[in-house]
Amino acid sequence: MIYLDNNATTQASESVLSAVVKYMSKCFSNASATTAAFTGADVPRRNAASQMAKILNAEEPETFFFTSGATEANNWVFASIASTVRTGTILISSIEHPSVREPAERLARQGFNLQLVPVDSHGVVCLEALGRLLSPDVVLVSIMAANNETGVLQSIGEIGELVRDKAPTALFHTDATQAVGKIAIDLQKEWKEVDLLSFSAHKFNGPKGVGGLYCRPGIDLTPLLVGGGQEQGARSGTTNTPGLAGLAAAVDEIELTAFGEVRQKRDYLEQQLLKLAPILIHSVGVPRLPNTCCFSLPECSGDDLVTELAAQGVIVGSGSACSSGSQEPAQTLLAMGVDYQVALGSIRVSLGPKTSVEELDFFLDRLKENLMSS
Ligand code: PMP
Repeated sequence: MIYLDNNATTQASESVLSAVVKYMSKCFSNASATTAAFTGADVPRRNAASQMAKILNAEEPETFFFTSGATEANNWVFASIASTVRTGTILISSIEHPSVREPAERLARQGFNLQLVPVDSHGVVCLEALGRLLSPDVVLVSIMAANNETGVLQSIGEIGELVRDKAPTALFHTDATQAVGKIAIDLQKEWKEVDLLSFSAHKFNGPKGVGGLYCRPGIDLTPLLVGGGQEQGARSGTTNTPGLAGLAAAVDEIELTAFGEVRQKRDYLEQQLLKLAPILIHSVGVPRLPNTCCFSLPECSGDDLVTELAAQGVIVGSGSACSSGSQEPAQTLLAMGVDYQVALGSIRVSLGPKTSVEELDFFLDRLKENLMSS
């Protein structure tokens, strides 16, 4: 199988696997037991927090809470706002992942004033519109760092400063699920105005079902899950020691420098695509994740083509890749003003650090065959 869908999920390495297995077999004890220091069950959480602090340059490891992934972390942010302020304006971008959009819409139904910050035709958040929407009434701003479909990066540093300037009491959250492990992030420098940040291990070669929320010191989160009081009372549920051990091992293996080569391969892919057919590559020319290429084929169903390619052993993503079974085109493309039919013909190729040029050539050959036979 040739796997070119790394924005959907990634493969774990041998060391991630052995870390997970160790804490499911040999060191299987409960991390909250009073004996944890003797069994070693307290190690994975501590390592995961310090590895996350290192990769994001966060102040102290205590500022991380671990969850079942980014969906839970994103939901938590909105649930916490609803229970602490009860009213006010919430700003999200028009291209957020459903795990941000849907909790925001839920709060709108409960009486919050939800406003969508538009993006331009490349998918970049319009800072002018954001500036106009910001006011002291804003309680939460949530803007994703990198889009899952197009890979477009937002200027989180600049947005943070704008929020702080015009809505000083608002919380600034960023869903950095697609950014962590692919670009440099510094929570003490450029991203110093970020209050809350969501991440998910399976997007950077860690296990599925584990992720978390960075929470800047001094910010009080109302727990989403209550019960046994784990995570310093912030998130109940037995600590996922195998997952956290895997997450820590995966962070340890992140090599941002490898993405320079990934970018070169992605650019090669895009040059070859343009030779194949009148293909529209989305968001070229604006800052993008180095591994992502999102393009549309004319008069073609992206979903059908993705299925056809999968049958031939090549796994790529279509617009609906993240929402199981959906035949709707990528929301992100529609928000960018891309025509409905063009959006339906979209395909997302997302490379990993190990993707080879030979694999890309194999994909290009299969794509060419499919285009010629259709
Ligand atoms: N946000 C973004 C931008 C994503 O790409 C995803 C995963 N598709 C999520 C949130 C949800 O992450 P998880 O799978 O950890 O729930």
